[in-house]
Amino acid sequence: DNAYYLDRQAKFESNARSYPRRLPIAIRRAEGIYVEDTDGRRYIDCLAGAGALALGHRHPVALAAVRDILADGTPWQTLDLTTPVKDRFVEELFATLPQEFTDHARIQFCGPSGADAVEAALKLVKTATGRRSILAFHGAYHGMTHGALGLTGELGPKLALSGLMADVHFLPFPQAYRCPFGLGGSGGWQASATYIEYLLDDSNSGIAPPAAVILEPVQGEGGVIPAPDPWLREIRRLTRERGIPLILDEVQTGIGRTGRMYAFEHADILPDVLVLSKAIGGGLPLSAVVYHEVLDRWQPGAHAGTFRGNQLAMATGVATLRYVQEQRLDRHAADMGQRLQGHLRHIQADFPILGDVRGRGLMIGVEVVDITAPDRTGAPPPCRELARRIQTECLRLGLILELGGRQGGVVRFLPPLIVTAVEVDQIAEIFRDAVQATAH
Ligand code: PMP
Repeated sequence: DNAYYLDRQAKFESNARSYPRRLPIAIRRAEGIYVEDTDGRRYIDCLAGAGALALGHRHPVALAAVRDILADGTPWQTLDLTTPVKDRFVEELFATLPQEFTDHARIQFCGPSGADAVEAALKLVKTATGRRSILAFHGAYHGMTHGALGLTGELGPKLALSGLMADVHFLPFPQAYRCPFGLGGSGGWQASATYIEYLLDDSNSGIAPPAAVILEPVQGEGGVIPAPDPWLREIRRLTRERGIPLILDEVQTGIGRTGRMYAFEHADILPDVLVLSKAIGGGLPLSAVVYHEVLDRWQPGAHAGTFRGNQLAMATGVATLRYVQEQRLDRHAADMGQRLQGHLRHIQADFPILGDVRGRGLMIGVEVVDITAPDRTGAPPPCRELARRIQTECLRLGLILELGGRQGGVVRFLPPLIVTAVEVDQIAEIFRDAVQATAH
């Protein structure tokens, strides 16, 4: 049962455990948006492999792709050698992107994690520009490898390490809850853009021209913070005019999650470098960087790695990309996201401990706050403790949610894109009950 497996894991994984501390269940089976634990209890999965499972668990089209590969003699791993499966994957992936971008695009397949694709993007822009520094954002999350961690805003995981990539400058991300620079309001993006323009143009800023600006169009781990569209357009203009590559990390936002195929479409901009992982492999490990050909100045093999040719992941990826497009799951995510946000706003109106509801498509966050301790501005601060209690209560009631945000006070909703209206209503109902039980 659950206790048996959790106990064993605690013995052999020691401090490597992270999710199981807050989600103490052992999962035996999964189907669609549901997982079942070893005690036979069923949960709605609003974590969905941290957003990797666009079609949920074991979707028929993904299963069929796996069965075909097992039956037709396709090898599983091929380094970066040429295969028909890889050719189909590139064709299918490029079909999801604006032609204006793919007409001049190259692709670099990376190892099995988003972080590895971030590393590739960094090496690409540094080689292409001959510059060292990178501009990243407060609250950013780009992964746990050495270079990617250097770009991560949160200090916690970095404090024990010295010598992470030094030349990273962190800039204020607009619209963050209780942003101390007054960038939280709807007009706050202008101040952020003005500051960035100053950094780039005034030698008094002390910052040399960077090799790139990297950002998440919707910060995920940082607490589900959507970048305002006019701000994104302004960053795009500033970087383009100065010949600075713009790297968009769409590891979490890509493939329909935010209600458009890619989050950059909301702002009607194009990246120079696009970092992709999670959903592109249909639930199996895969990542890639798609970039403008003018940046293609690195040597062949500059980002080699053994597992760049995962044919199974490419096949499930092809099936998933095709299904998302055919079924217009991007639009569906927009509709379902609107429905869920609507429910959550109603719940928020009844419970002052819910300080903010925000998001895009099926990437939604609820800021949980401590109303007993307003800060100097009068706004209640995020409250990790309360968020944890809500999470625990949700789990007891059959709903898996994860936390994020600067103080861990954001409850994040990342259901598979196939979630139905009825299921969205159930998710909101369970959440309401959990908040009710926590608030009293
Ligand atoms: N970038 C973003 C925006 C992410 O959300 C994540 C993972 N949550 C990563 C990069 C890192 O991906 P991985 O965990 O596969 O290394």
